[in-house]
Amino acid sequence: MKIVKSGFLVGCVLLILACGQSNSNNSVSPTDTINVVAADTATEKTFAVSLVNNKKDPTCGMPVTAGIHDTTHYENKVLGFCSTECKNEFLKNPKANLAAAEIK
Ligand SMILES: [Zn+2]
Repeated sequence: MKIVKSGFLVGCVLLILACGQSNSNNSVSPTDTINVVAADTATEKTFAVSLVNNKKDPTCGMPVTAGIHDTTHYENKVLGFCSTECKNEFLKNPKANLAAAEIK
């Protein structure tokens, strides 16, 4: 059911984008821009737990099962993070934080 719903949302986004292109070839109105941004937020991408090699977000300690919103590659491992902020924080000093990731 969840998959059907997100597929519907993606369809809506594509419709909005298609309409925006056909209605305004040279000028984008402020209203169109707001609609697209709102739609992007609603369909924020997440990553499957099976795609990453860590059990926990090494920066904040949150289990990856709670939701992965960004990933990075480090030493041939794929690490999942709850947010881009956590990923950026990890990349400042990966060696010091890697143990907290609990690599599978
Ligand atoms: Zn985090």
